[in-house]
Amino acid sequence: FRDETLSCDPKVRASQLVEAAVSVAKKRDPDQSLFIQTVTEVATSLGPLFAETDEYFFAFKHMLEPEQLYQFRVPWVDDSGRTRVQRGFRVQFSSALGPYKGGLRYHPSVGVDTIKFLGFEQIFKNALTTLNLGGGKGGSDFDPKGKSEAEIMRFCQSFMTALEPYIGPNRDVPAGDIGVGGREIGYLFGQYKRLNQGRFEGVLTGKSADWGGSYVRPEATGWGLVFFSEEAMKDLKGEKLKNKRCALSGSGNVAQFAAQQLLKLGAVPVTFSDSSGTIYEPDGFTVEKLDLLMEVKAVRGARLTDYAAKSPTSSYHAGARPWSVVDELDLAFPCATQNELEEQDAINLIKAGCIGVFEGANMPTTPGAVEILEAGGCVFGPAKAANAGGVAVSGLEMAQNAQMTQWTGDDVEKKLNAIMKDIYHQCADCAETYHDRTQIKEGANIAAFLKVAAALREQGA
Ligand code: GLU
Repeated sequence: FRDETLSCDPKVRASQLVEAAVSVAKKRDPDQSLFIQTVTEVATSLGPLFAETDEYFFAFKHMLEPEQLYQFRVPWVDDSGRTRVQRGFRVQFSSALGPYKGGLRYHPSVGVDTIKFLGFEQIFKNALTTLNLGGGKGGSDFDPKGKSEAEIMRFCQSFMTALEPYIGPNRDVPAGDIGVGGREIGYLFGQYKRLNQGRFEGVLTGKSADWGGSYVRPEATGWGLVFFSEEAMKDLKGEKLKNKRCALSGSGNVAQFAAQQLLKLGAVPVTFSDSSGTIYEPDGFTVEKLDLLMEVKAVRGARLTDYAAKSPTSSYHAGARPWSVVDELDLAFPCATQNELEEQDAINLIKAGCIGVFEGANMPTTPGAVEILEAGGCVFGPAKAANAGGVAVSGLEMAQNAQMTQWTGDDVEKKLNAIMKDIYHQCADCAETYHDRTQIKEGANIAAFLKVAAALREQGA
């Protein structure tokens, strides 16, 4: 069909091929809007490659279909003794570069669409780490909000009972994501051992550093995000992070440790958010205030209103996201969830003086908002590059487990810093070759895709 219907103009041909690739996903799964959103975003960057050779076009089309997608029933007993049923998922998207790797998300919004969007993103993110990691993702529509510790433990045990047949340290290695942290990984790991005659192996990452985990894994996504932003701002704007006012959304693991690293570099975090609203410290969170926030959030079920009650200098904005609360800032770090930064938010950010947006969450910025930010001269650090620090240290955890060893926190931090800088330069260099050095998003997609496509070719897959 190429020769007859495709334009000779490379630009037009590229966009025709992008449309053809996206239509594959749209035809097969018309209801999967998040998956189609990420496929469209990646395909659009790859247009010039599709126009260059058929091989890339077909490799991309092949990558749209997960190698395996499991869905299972997860029964669990609540505290009143009633049995409840949740849906569990694991998508094993690509093993081109290594064992399937990616987190588990517990959130009511989880379904096939969410898991496929996250799994597809993960293929590219993991490729950028330069470690041998394939792409996968999983989770459940289980809502940890309002559940007791015992309920969470029983749920994790039942989830692992269903998931266990599909995973293994050289096959598929899950980790945490929204709703799944160190405690959940502990319960999941314990159940895996019970199901495997006590086999103590690196089947999950994000384990406690006292029993097989890596130092700096809890911090890795947030710290890595800041290391990435530091390098990007230096390279593209000649700016340091010192004294920069930073709006962060979310208040979980990623946002907390991003703020911690920002403070170390002399920047000024001013907001956090949860699903009910935004907390704003106009003069910035100090180390002490961040400690207070972390202490408040360490309690299961805690809300940011609990922090507001303890910090008289803060203001709480119910129902608002940081992007409409802060009227003066330099950098934004969306660390909450997908599509949390929309077009109007992007307009607000540019007006407020924002010069850089770095995604801590997965796909937090809508396509329209990205366009507005880039047109406004903002440096844009896409999730698959900017938040790859988490899975990178997961890869380092797997390496430590395989060697039955544990590196020091300093060692891991140094490796993480080097990986994030390397990711930035892969993206910028590739962006420069195919588009323009500032187009980090395009660079990330192309650099990652080229690795996966080469592996597919070499493996005859
Ligand atoms: N859930 C994280 C992510 O989105 C980490 C995955 C992992 O460590 O495997 O990349």
